[in-house]
Amino acid sequence: MNDLISLNREELRELFAGFSEPPFRADQLFQWIHRKNTWDFSAMTNLPLALRERLGAAYLVSTVRIERTLAAPDGTRKHAFRLADGEAVEAVFLPERKYFSLCVSSQAGCPLACVFCATGARGFRRHLSAAEILGQIYLLLKNAPPVDRLGNILFMGMGEPLLNPSELRRAISLLTDPQGLALSPRKIVVSTSGIIPELKALAAESRIRFAISLNAPNPELRKKLMPGVETKYPLPGLLQVLRDFPHNYPGRLMIEYVLIRGENDSGKCAAELEKSLRGIRARVNLIPHNPFPGSGLSSPENSRVLRFQEILKSQGRIVFIREPRGAEIQAACGQLAGTKKAESGEQGAKGEEPGAEG
Ligand code: SF4
Repeated sequence: MNDLISLNREELRELFAGFSEPPFRADQLFQWIHRKNTWDFSAMTNLPLALRERLGAAYLVSTVRIERTLAAPDGTRKHAFRLADGEAVEAVFLPERKYFSLCVSSQAGCPLACVFCATGARGFRRHLSAAEILGQIYLLLKNAPPVDRLGNILFMGMGEPLLNPSELRRAISLLTDPQGLALSPRKIVVSTSGIIPELKALAAESRIRFAISLNAPNPELRKKLMPGVETKYPLPGLLQVLRDFPHNYPGRLMIEYVLIRGENDSGKCAAELEKSLRGIRARVNLIPHNPFPGSGLSSPENSRVLRFQEILKSQGRIVFIREPRGAEIQAACGQLAGTKKAESGEQGAKGEEPGAEG
């Protein structure tokens, strides 16, 4: 069956023209899917019964389904999704005081093999379609507070979003459509390890925000920790792109830095990082590494995290330490989707510290 969640209004109108239905019917369907988050054609009461039956016989809204959900005491919910071909991905619901955010995946696995990342350790399976990206978001919204309390959608789950640019663009375009969720682009945050051509292109054409997963202050260390991306897009070029970032960029860039004990958590690394970031309008998020079996890496001591922060702050940098969310229910990103339960189709699920290391 064909799913309809990733068709834009123009494409739905073309489909409906083939049914001899007027264009406004396509807009009605679009609003049911994207504004009212309704997946059941029979509930779309302003569509004629015959059309609803026709759609129900040959189409569905989305094939994505939640396989497991794990909830932490702080309200964080981590989900494992099963895709139509059996692949598993993760997404996380993150409650804040007033708002909530969603962290979603853009690929099943990831080809970039960052050494601190459980998703990278699984290898690359495939890109997600826009339908699969939206399926995660809309399923989570079904059990979330009203959408006016949606803070951010974070492309920080499994995968490198900018290696899947066309499906990412389509998902963003549908999320921001004024007849759908009508999400402000500023509420969309794409985390990238630094796929330079796509980062430049997307920054030039949209008003979404970016988080840059940097994790090392120099090319040598970055090549050790992030061999996939550093080999192709070396750090000096990435830093120059960040210095030249469009002047109309909303606010500051976010630099993500996973702190790994004995690897990149020294005072020397902090000072070198600040030097590398000179001229870049960015705040820094420090993320203590969340170890996973087989990585051979461990979390930094708390005192070193604080010292790292102090060194950056002493140079006037805004620096946050990201507290682990939902650590009680799951470990590192990419780990839950790779569990036996998720792979075997049992009821259960996965999720990751949103964007922590993705
Ligand atoms: S950290 Fe991000 S880019 Fe690196 S392997 Fe993990 S998902 Fe891929």
